[in-house]
Amino acid sequence: MRVFSCLVEDHNLYLTALAAVICVLGAVIMARLYRKVRASRRRMRWSWLFLGAVAGGATIWCTHFVAMMAYRPGVEITYAPFLTGISLLVAIVGCGLAMAMGSQRHRLSPEAGGVTFGLTVAAMHYVGMAAFTADALVIWSPVYVAASLIAAVVFGALAFAQVRNTVSGLKTYIAPGLLVLAIVSLHFTGMGAMTILPLAPVEGAVTGDVASALLAVGVAVVGFLILGVAIASHALEDQTSRDSNSRLYQLIEGSVDGMLVESEGVILIGNAAFAGLCGVPVDDLVGQPLERWLDEEARSADGMLVQGALTASDGEAIPVEVAVRAARRDDGAGHYRIFAVRDLRARLAQERRIVHLARNDSLTGLPNRVSFLEEMERRVAQSGGQQFALFAIDLNRFKEVNDVYGHGVGDRLLIHVADRMMTTRTEGDFVARLGGDEFMALTPVTSRLHAMEAAERLRSAIMEPMQADHADVQCGAAIGIALWPDDAREASVLINNADLAMYRAKAALATDVCFYEEAMDEAVRDRRRLTQGLREALDNDRFELHYQVQASLSTGKATGFEALLRWKQPDGSYIPPDQFIPLAEETGLILPIGEWVLRAACVEAASWAVPHRIAVNLSPVQLSHIDLPRLVHQILIETGLKPERLELEITETAMIAEMERTTHILRQLKLLGVSVAMDDFGTGYSSLSTLRAFPFDKIKLDRSFMSELEGSQQSKAIIRAVLALGESLDIPVLAEGVETRTQLEFLRAQGCDEVQGYLLGRPSRDGQNNTDAQADLTVDAAEASQAA
Ligand code: C2E
Ligand code: CA
Ligand code: CA
Repeated sequence: MRVFSCLVEDHNLYLTALAAVICVLGAVIMARLYRKVRASRRRMRWSWLFLGAVAGGATIWCTHFVAMMAYRPGVEITYAPFLTGISLLVAIVGCGLAMAMGSQRHRLSPEAGGVTFGLTVAAMHYVGMAAFTADALVIWSPVYVAASLIAAVVFGALAFAQVRNTVSGLKTYIAPGLLVLAIVSLHFTGMGAMTILPLAPVEGAVTGDVASALLAVGVAVVGFLILGVAIASHALEDQTSRDSNSRLYQLIEGSVDGMLVESEGVILIGNAAFAGLCGVPVDDLVGQPLERWLDEEARSADGMLVQGALTASDGEAIPVEVAVRAARRDDGAGHYRIFAVRDLRARLAQERRIVHLARNDSLTGLPNRVSFLEEMERRVAQSGGQQFALFAIDLNRFKEVNDVYGHGVGDRLLIHVADRMMTTRTEGDFVARLGGDEFMALTPVTSRLHAMEAAERLRSAIMEPMQADHADVQCGAAIGIALWPDDAREASVLINNADLAMYRAKAALATDVCFYEEAMDEAVRDRRRLTQGLREALDNDRFELHYQVQASLSTGKATGFEALLRWKQPDGSYIPPDQFIPLAEETGLILPIGEWVLRAACVEAASWAVPHRIAVNLSPVQLSHIDLPRLVHQILIETGLKPERLELEITETAMIAEMERTTHILRQLKLLGVSVAMDDFGTGYSSLSTLRAFPFDKIKLDRSFMSELEGSQQSKAIIRAVLALGESLDIPVLAEGVETRTQLEFLRAQGCDEVQGYLLGRPSRDGQNNTDAQADLTVDAAEASQAA
């Protein structure tokens, strides 16, 4: 009652209201600043502490003084300026101390701060009252003073303790309310503790009333200014943090990657990109548990990029890459994490495409050579004695399809064939395209019969016709089968063997499918090796010509040299022509080889000091396949060799096949001025008719007659007959293979024109200088007639 009556009876109510406004406003601001002090650290904490101390001190002090202005005890009142100033300092320092204590880490520090605050309010009040002097007797009631102290301390402690609770809505005002209670209860209980007995009766209005009202307003203005500064700085700070929040939000929103902010497992915000990934509207994300969308892996991201999965609303698991950054909330109330979530589908698809391109044939999509070899190695390594068949497949007539219908149709046919093979696959089958019209297939088998069935299945799949340009386009296939582990011990050998079998299938008329057979295919393998060797020899200049002398029997002088081809081996030995010419003829390699021989022989002969004749062997293939007269002409011009020094040796076989064409070519050659000799005479079938068809310049009697000469009357008779024939046709005869003196003397006695053989000289690289023939030819007549 005493406090209440003091308030209503002794106070100017307007000014009291003003004090209340200051108190309430100040308390709200102080409570906020106190939270800031607690939430911030280091330098920021000092700034907030300073602001909080000034605002809190000003609030207490102004409330007190404006309330004092409102106090009308009915006596003259004055305030000692020094103590008044001290009271303000006490308020500010005390508030600062209270806030500093209240924001320590200790469990009870808010209460300690609150108690300090209550004591500060009290200290300020009673120091302020010490500055109060009135023209009266002032009596204090210790009970009231004690009560005021207790009230201030209790309310202060309660107010500061509020900081432990999170605040929203009306709860925000609990702490300021308690602060107001602490200030107000102290002030008015403190005022109630004071009894003023005027020493002299007062007449009329108390002087200085207006002045003290003005003073009150002045104090209030100063208080408001201080509070205004505090509010403004607080608002500015709020704005900057709101700005930075909205910048963060814009950043998140504008990102093409999915972004979200999470705190305690709950999504606070998510952007449109993330919502798009999840397949829900953006607003639906807020408040949802993060684990609803991201799997363990993705959620565990911490600083580093991790890959995880996002489960969309339709249940699709989307591979994502997640980066996370942890941050603290500005108000210090816990942590939050910012997630960047990137959709990996496009990148993974791209990676798969690249891998696919590297491992598959771009036309048909079938596995390519690389994949095939890997698959082979894998199956060989894992077969564990299990049989499987390897099919080497080569399309027949594919080149014709390309030529007749064009490459577009050819490509479509390859795709068609690939599709057909893929659709007829059974379990464990593997089909690859190695390039061009070559395919390979693998299938597990239990027997040869089983493998044969699989091959037939492949063949009929390939042979299925394709509709193109109003025509059925179709191709066949030659298939070679090699069986693992019967046919090879290594993957590469197995592939080779399947290839060999395929070549045989291609060559065979009766069948399109062949198994690898060691005996048959080894020969093929040797031939392929030899062919390859010939090619390399040609490229690397490993051929050589050796020269063998031809001599006249009558004069004993060398008349010419025959160029004989040698294939030089790396070890210095030579492979004789009989071992590679037939193969070179089959493969067509004889054409470039023959051209090389012709040119090399002419170059050599042109360099000789003595203009001997040079004899060059021609293959029948050369006669039928190239424009020989033009080539010979060109080489003669190139080398500058006189045409009459060149003699071309051809065998009968060249004549028989196409008599008319060949004789035509030979005539053209003769027109160039070169001479033509018939080689190996007597070994063919129709020697006489070929002699009639073309006017040869020389007959070379085959060397087999020489070796049989001794002891064989038939050989002697044939030699005599050939020599007679030559004489009557007026064609000189040269006897080959003369190895003995007996042979030589026999030939001389029979009137043979020329001889060639080991007796006169072996073929050698510098045959031209080989003159030992000379001695052997000077034979005495007696010996000769005896031999005859
Ligand atoms: P050819 O044209 O009948 O060549 C003569 C062959 O008889 C040569 O064998 C030669 O070394 C051999 N020979 C020479 N004197 C004697 C002898 O006294 N006794 C015996 N037993 N043999 C003798 P070569 O050099 O091995 O040539 C074999 C065949 O290869 C040649 O038979 C020829 O048909 C062919 N040839 C050689 N060089 C070429 C060439 O440049 N082009 C073509 N197309 N074929 C060639
Ligand atoms: Ca010859
Ligand atoms: Ca010969």
